[in-house]
Order: sequence, then C-alpha cells, then structure tokens
Amino acid sequence: MKIVVLIKQVPDTTEVKLDPRTGTLIREGVPSIINPEDKNALEEALKLKEQMGAQVIVLSMGPPQAEDALREALAMGADEAILLTDRAFAGADTWATATTLGLALKKIGDFDLVLAGRQAIDGDTAQVGPQVAEYLKIPQITYVRELVVEDGKVRAKRAIEDGYEEIEAKLPALLTITKEANTPRYPHAGAIMNAYRERKVTFWGVKDVDANPEQVGLQGSPTQVKRSFSPPPKEPGQIIKSGPAEAAKELVAILRQKNII
Ligand SMILES: Cc1cc2nc3c(=O)[nH]c(=O)nc-3n(C[C@H](O)[C@H](O)[C@H](O)COP(=O)(O)OP(=O)(O)OC[C@H]3O[C@@H](n4cnc5c(N)ncnc54)[C@H](O)[C@@H]3O)c2cc1C
Repeated sequence: MKIVVLIKQVPDTTEVKLDPRTGTLIREGVPSIINPEDKNALEEALKLKEQMGAQVIVLSMGPPQAEDALREALAMGADEAILLTDRAFAGADTWATATTLGLALKKIGDFDLVLAGRQAIDGDTAQVGPQVAEYLKIPQITYVRELVVEDGKVRAKRAIEDGYEEIEAKLPALLTITKEANTPRYPHAGAIMNAYRERKVTFWGVKDVDANPEQVGLQGSPTQVKRSFSPPPKEPGQIIKSGPAEAAKELVAILRQKNII
C-alpha cells in the first residue's frame, strides 16, 4: 500500500498577527512547526504501515525551509519526503495549492490513500484536502477520527455536528484527519539525527510536475486577498467596586438599562 501524507509547515502560533501597515502576516521570531493535524494524519499512516505494511510518502508545498517539517516527518517514520518548492508556486491560494499538490500526486502515482490534516492553523480554510480530492477525481472523507483499510476499501468514522457517521469508500481515496484521531508519536533522538544527517528530501519545481505556470502560484489563483486586518481590540469591561449587596443592585440596574433583563 502507498500512502501520501500532505504536510504543511505553519508558524507555531494559533494567534495570527498581522502587520497593520502592510496587512501581511508577521513571521519574524515565530518558529515553524508541522501543522498539528498533519501530524495526526501522519500518525494514522504510520499505524497502517505497522499493521499491514505500507510505503509512507510525505509531500509538502512551501518555501525551502519547509524541508525541516519534512525531516521531522522522516524522523517520525515516513519513508520518503518530497518538497514542492519554486518561486512560481509562491502566492498560491487554496485552488492553486491543491492543483500543485494534485499534479505532484499524479507524478507519484499508484497511491492508495492520501491523508491530510483537517485544517491548517494559519490559513484555516480546510479547503485544500477536499480540493485535492476533486482535482484527482477520487472519493473523499473529511473530519475522520478512526479508519480501517480492508479489501481495497477504507471505512472511516467522521465527526458531524451531533454525532458520527461511518462512511466507506473505494481506494484510492483522500481522508482529512482530525486531532481526536490519535496522539502523534515523538521521534527518538537517534531517528532525528538520522533524518537530518542521512535521509534525502526530494525537491520538485514547476517543470518536475509538468505544471503550466498559469495553473500555479499567484497566476493560477482565482481568489485575491483585498485586505487583511485584525479585529479592533475589545473594550475593557466595567468593574463594579462597591460591596456585594450594592454591587448586585448596580449590576441589575445596568443590565435593565441595557435591556438585557
Ligand atoms: C490570493 C491568495 C494568495 C496567497 N498567497 C500566499 C503566499 O504568498 N504565501 C503563503 O504562505 N500563503 C499564501 N496564501 C495562503 C495559501 O493559499 C494557503 O495557506 C494554502 O492554500 C493552504 O490553505 P490553508 O492554510 O487554509 O490550508 P487548509 O485547507 O486548512 O489545510 C488542510 C490540509 O491541507 C494540507 N495542506 C494545506 N496546504 C498545504 C501545503 N502547502 N503543502 C502540503 N499540504 C498542505 C494539509 O494536510 C492541511 O492540514 C494565499 C492565499 C490567497 C487566497
């Protein structure tokens, strides 16, 4: 079985800070990590490798420093790592990102499963997994927290608003994995050293995936960010300083005045 896991390197923060002047993300001083749910996706792939034997390939699109994320994935137990990096891929929206990943998956070929995180903690759209499945015209199951592969099919338990659904799909299929699925393993020190010193990361550019430059990067992006801004900070609350009985009366008066009670 061949499993490809989509890995995005993200800034290590859930608080995206924007430069109010330029409207762009402030990345300086923020360390980068593997997007947390991509680690859950990788953990599922590694569990399948242990259970039934599988080749696990990690695939990322990003700047050259995303190599670090792939080396960490190799240390966790991935067999191969591919980084799609090229100036022509820069400025991609989710559509162009999915097209680029889809082209790379076609080049990898013969995969049985593609696993992605449910959502990236910086872009936060949860669009890329489903868009890659659409691009490849393969079935997709999103929000997966359990999965079983058997007889050329995958059966998955997916979270819905008020419970779970069990869905079966023929392979090849793409699944997006949630953080409830597992606790990702920590690589041991020897594996980390090996991943940095001995293992290979393959770099692919536009020509390697036969991309038309108009399909990828900024040129291939149908959406445009008009403006980015942080919401204005919340006004401080009102503190009632009198004793408890007085404070209760004052609070009731304020709530009445605001038509809350
Ligand atoms: C017009 C426009 C221009 C943009 N320009 C830039 C830019 O210049 N630089 C920039 O950094 N971002 C840019 N972005 C943001 C970029 O498009 C998104 O970060 C990217 O498409 C992933 O979307 P997401 O973060 O919402 O991921 P989600 O859809 O939330 O991610 C879901 C899952 O998809 C997989 N995945 C997502 N992205 C990747 C990836 N790159 N490689 C491998 N797997 C992945 C992961 O498994 C992830 O868990 C731009 C967006 C727009 C709309």
